[in-house]
Amino acid sequence: MSVDVKENLLNVISSIRETENQCSRKEGSVKLIAVSKFHPIEEIISALDAGQLYFGENRVQEAVEKFSIIKKTHPETHLHIIGTLQTNKVKKAVEIAECIESVDRKQVLYEIEKQCAKINKTISVLLELHTGEESKSGFSDEKELSESLELFSSGVFPHIVANGFMTMAPFTEDESLIRKSFATLRETSERMKKNFPNLPLKELSMGMSSDYKIAIEEGSTMVRVGTAIFGPRNYSQS
Ligand SMILES: *Cc1c(COP(=O)(O)O)cnc(C)c1O
Repeated sequence: MSVDVKENLLNVISSIRETENQCSRKEGSVKLIAVSKFHPIEEIISALDAGQLYFGENRVQEAVEKFSIIKKTHPETHLHIIGTLQTNKVKKAVEIAECIESVDRKQVLYEIEKQCAKINKTISVLLELHTGEESKSGFSDEKELSESLELFSSGVFPHIVANGFMTMAPFTEDESLIRKSFATLRETSERMKKNFPNLPLKELSMGMSSDYKIAIEEGSTMVRVGTAIFGPRNYSQS
């Protein structure tokens, strides 16, 4: 099956701009992260050639295999890790990525700090919040989130920038549940910004191929779109 990555990418970008417009948000306020997991290097290069600079990958091993090569010819490429991170993968993740969107526990933050300190790198992270019935990943409540932000506030993580929050909506056809999940992230973020005015906390990463328009309406600043750009993933290959 052949997919026109460039055409799909341009369609997604124009639909993002249109949605920004429709809900009176500033043009360009939503950043597109092209989720390239399970897709080969050639397709990522097609997207790069069409002007896309931000990519997301779930698995660290796959990200390293592909992006260590891509970055040689395209050093301007930005990579976000968006999948749940095991502690033993943190070292490689911080070497290859500029943002880890899926921080879901304090322990990972301590490990990120340790590994970044070793290579003298500052990385940005998003804290993932569990907002939907069926999704499993993420901090389970605001109390846990607050505890982590407290640590940032007291200077425990000098090599990590707490840039904001991330969530995944539940897998459902029910638009009201999806919207509710995104609104929960936005409201949580607003409370956290009040409680921690010294932290950046500016990004809301929410919205995927099937629900990014709803996410933009609910205040998303970053959408993570895979299928709508690269086509369906072939999980049997790896
Ligand atoms: C795979 C994935 C996406 C992209 O999903 P699509 O439905 O293909 O757009 C976004 N976010 C996360 C965390 C993912 O794992």
